Amino acid sequence: MTALTRRRLLAGASAAGAALALTPFATTSSQAAAPLAGKQAPSFYRSKVGDFEVTVVSDGARVAPIPDGYVRNVSKEPVLAAAEAAFNPKGSLFAPFNPVVVNTGSKLVLLDTGFGAGIGPTVGLLQSTMAAAGIDPKAIDIVVISHMHGDHILGLKNADGSLAFPNAEIKVPANDWAFWMNDDNMAKYQDPFNKVQMGFNRKIFSDLKDKVTRYEAGKEVAPGITAIDASGHTPGQCALLIASGSGRLLFQADVTNVPDLFLRNPDWHVMFDHEPEKAAATRRRIHDMAAAEKLLVTGYHYPFPSLGYSEKAGSGYRLIPVAWSPVI
Ligand SMILES: [Zn+2]
Repeated sequence: MTALTRRRLLAGASAAGAALALTPFATTSSQAAAPLAGKQAPSFYRSKVGDFEVTVVSDGARVAPIPDGYVRNVSKEPVLAAAEAAFNPKGSLFAPFNPVVVNTGSKLVLLDTGFGAGIGPTVGLLQSTMAAAGIDPKAIDIVVISHMHGDHILGLKNADGSLAFPNAEIKVPANDWAFWMNDDNMAKYQDPFNKVQMGFNRKIFSDLKDKVTRYEAGKEVAPGITAIDASGHTPGQCALLIASGSGRLLFQADVTNVPDLFLRNPDWHVMFDHEPEKAAATRRRIHDMAAAEKLLVTGYHYPFPSLGYSEKAGSGYRLIPVAWSPVI
């Protein structure tokens, strides 16, 4: 077996460099003048689920330092180690945000809405992603919110406070509405995270109380899209099962946050989980089902295009991402 050592690689590279330097036309402007693009491609990805067309429309991603207490029931060292083992920047975590548009043929349905304008610069990109994908916000018939955290609801409004999807019916989980829009809870939950979320909910929903439809788990929220109880992360979170013909896709929302940490370690209590024990039980219930049924899953905080399969591995699960396909 040939050992391709670092020294041989470097020796090869310097030999190539020397050869290039001896080539008379190696530095002509025609080879050096291409400007750097400096910009990412619009991040949308299409696939079919039965007769439905599903488009993952990225709202962006961001890198944030891992705070103390990020995982409540584990010391910081294994959390940092897991993040580093997944090649995150040291001490930080890369978190993507992936809403989904489902075209059922009769309805255009948006699942969650990203951060909206003003939080940026690397998030709040949903509108520009949708424009690149040729999806008109005015054509969205239904917006289904999986749960009422800011990164899922703030995109419902534009920077000027107008509705981002002006012709859409907005559907939210009834139990989340009852929790987040309760003024007694607003007074009670004064920790920084919940306080901010309570504020976000008032900013978005205070003038929409009569317009929002509250939905229950177990019910169809749009043609072919059924809400599944996924509470624990929030009091009313729902996963959304998209089914058409023999095709199925599970929008698992935040049942599992970034998979390198929380799919591998489903019993870890991320600080955003409202009822941690229940959230962990939900995580196992949903991903045991996904693994047993070989169900295609999209995770809001999975790496774009956020589509893959759950497989049991060790005491948790492994994400097997789908391969990019040039055809739908
Ligand atoms: Zn989230």
